Amino acid sequence: MKPLALFPNFDDHVWLTEKPEGSSQDEAGRVRNMRCGRRRSAGGCHTLGVVTRLESWHEPARDLPITGRPDVLVVGAGSAGVAAALSAARRGAETWLLERTGFVGGLATVGLINLLLTMDDGCGTPVVAGICQEVVDHLVARGAATHPPAEQWGSEEPGLVDGWRRWGLVWGAAPEAVRYSVAYDPEAFVDVCHQLLAREAVHLQLHTHFATVAMEDRAVAAVIFESKRGREVVVPKVVIDASGDGDVMVAAGAAYEKVAIPPHLWFRVGGVCDDGEPASRSWFDTAVEGRVLVPWGPHPDRVDPCDPDDMTRAELACRAGARAELERMRASVSAFRGAWLDDYARMLGITESRRLVGDYVLSKEDADVRFADSVAQTGHWTRREVVYDVPLRCLTTPAASNLLVTGRCISTTRYVHQATKEIPAAMATGEAAGAAAALVAGGASGSVRDLDVNVLRADLRRAGAFVGGDAIGARLV
Ligand SMILES: Cc1cc2nc3c(=O)[nH]c(=O)nc-3n(C[C@H](O)[C@H](O)[C@H](O)COP(=O)(O)OP(=O)(O)OC[C@H]3O[C@@H](n4cnc5c(N)ncnc54)[C@H](O)[C@@H]3O)c2cc1C
Repeated sequence: MKPLALFPNFDDHVWLTEKPEGSSQDEAGRVRNMRCGRRRSAGGCHTLGVVTRLESWHEPARDLPITGRPDVLVVGAGSAGVAAALSAARRGAETWLLERTGFVGGLATVGLINLLLTMDDGCGTPVVAGICQEVVDHLVARGAATHPPAEQWGSEEPGLVDGWRRWGLVWGAAPEAVRYSVAYDPEAFVDVCHQLLAREAVHLQLHTHFATVAMEDRAVAAVIFESKRGREVVVPKVVIDASGDGDVMVAAGAAYEKVAIPPHLWFRVGGVCDDGEPASRSWFDTAVEGRVLVPWGPHPDRVDPCDPDDMTRAELACRAGARAELERMRASVSAFRGAWLDDYARMLGITESRRLVGDYVLSKEDADVRFADSVAQTGHWTRREVVYDVPLRCLTTPAASNLLVTGRCISTTRYVHQATKEIPAAMATGEAAGAAAALVAGGASGSVRDLDVNVLRADLRRAGAFVGGDAIGARLV
């Protein structure tokens, strides 16, 4: 009898036996009513039935290969993770960037959320620059991004506002204004990120899931990954959690909040003849003529974004809903009569899941408060004249001295998360986290929580980032 499956590296192997007595095999080759046996002994197979009776199974310890000892490990290559990795590598840190999918950019690329909202304060002053601006410059140079020119920022002129609304770049209550927001092509965003990461010699590992951490003395001692190659271990000096869902911070024992949310599924449609449609329509122009972006959602059923069963249901329901919406548009909107589906987002639109409760929780009352330890700044996509400083303490946790959290899961209230989750803000906090990690890995302090924030702020400013504290964007107040 041949072993059908076994748990590798399991000293006391439990073997599932192929077609044992009393079992049957269906057409797909699945064996039903299988019994378990221990390793075949001289006397034959001793059937135990252990695993089938257990309610939990103890995973035995095993030795794993240590495959790297980088200065900085970034988990998750969304917009925040890419910015974090670039920022750390540019400061001389050996940097690894780990991603579970085959793409970088996360929601900003494969999630089809292809709008940078926003890079200004709503009145014409940019508040996000640094790596986010650098990526915009590269996209514009390739003809892969569109944004209002600087002289229009803050304008309430109805013709201009309506024109940019067609691109999905105008939001919020009246009086509406033109903002410094950017519509871009997601594939170009991926290519630009790949180029920049390669230039900084970031070690990018795609198709690899973060699994867990080993903790020692309130620090992350090792990070365990899982891929088709198996499980492996990396021993970094500093870890940045850019997973969006806070997977690392949870594994490290940090405090966090979690919400269930209604998911979205944006999709792109080709063959749209858009002449004469009003500016306030339910789709956005894109850089490609005849192709539009449909921001479908939310689906009414809330899901736990960290539960695979919920996410499976959401994938199926959102896809059916998006398809039905496209059929409806084809039947009832003249511009869509000859339209076809280009693609659905390959990542569900999850606005939030877990949020760190870190050394400081940024709240509504902190709008327009200038923090001395601020390391990033953001405006608000639906509100004008609101600028949040993001203190380094929103990225750190008492749970681990060498862990920084960035992107959409930093430490804020739900209200402020509306602003800090946006792509420009995620890139700004990513850039700050990368710089902080590089400084700590280089010996500037023993803990990310003890880092001299003035050194970090000066370093970020030299690199072109807006860090707030005493200024809104480039403008001293
Ligand atoms: C419907 C919707 C509309 C939005 N509209 C806008 C908008 O118009 N403009 C705007 O600026 N922002 C918008 N946002 C917000 C914005 O898109 C996201 O908040 C932002 O992109 C988050 O970036 P991030 O890098 O923090 O996270 P993500 O983009 O989620 O990236 C996280 C990355 O980590 C990877 N990852 C996760 N877990 C693991 C693991 N265990 N192992 C390895 N890798 C892992 C993921 O695959 C992903 O690549 C919107 C969001 C949604 C959902």
